Amino acid sequence: MNRLHSFAFNAFSEQTYLLDHGNGEATVFDPGMSTALEREEFEGICGKLGVVVVQCLLTHAHLDHVMGANWIKQRYGCGPRLHPTDEQTWEQAPLSAKLYGISLDTLPDRGEDLGKHGSGIACGNMELEIRCAPGHSIGHVVFVCHSLKFVVGGDVLFSGSIGRTDLPGGDPDVLAKSIEEQLYSLSDDYTIHPGHGGSTTIGKERSSNPFVNGLGTGMLQR
Ligand SMILES: [Zn+2]
Ligand SMILES: [Zn+2]
Repeated sequence: MNRLHSFAFNAFSEQTYLLDHGNGEATVFDPGMSTALEREEFEGICGKLGVVVVQCLLTHAHLDHVMGANWIKQRYGCGPRLHPTDEQTWEQAPLSAKLYGISLDTLPDRGEDLGKHGSGIACGNMELEIRCAPGHSIGHVVFVCHSLKFVVGGDVLFSGSIGRTDLPGGDPDVLAKSIEEQLYSLSDDYTIHPGHGGSTTIGKERSSNPFVNGLGTGMLQR
């Protein structure tokens, strides 16, 4: 049974994910729905699955990952939960919207801060492990589900690529270390669901990612 559903939303083609808890409830990750049409699409899938969103989790607070945060709060009552080290990214989101000339709803009050590296977070009877993986943003985290062997990975590692490091708080050496230590420490059969583009596996990226791979020959490694 497919528990994780994906959507490509907003001008940045950001991947929003919906995790069906299997009990009528669900968690949304990185809500990027920015138009009435995208919000209708999201509601339609929730209706089809028979789930209500009870939790909103952020991998990080870049503009493209929070464009639907206000709407989720109003529609379902849950404020986005962010790792506190990404606070400055959150605060910069309205400014970057202005720079891009993109409208952004007022950011809502956040939910409880995410716990520390290695702590667990419940999604119904599933548990996700929070791993800090900075380098793309300063307080970026990934969510690892060991029982179903998947990662909601945000903008750390993409299929054949990696997150950009030229935004405030970005650092290429830190990003390479995060990928090696927090993602490549998982077994090959874990699927990564990234913040942009299609899903991939740890095995595929470890063997062939041109930027950071298991051989240490990537462009970002030395
Ligand atoms: Zn980002
Ligand atoms: Zn992004």
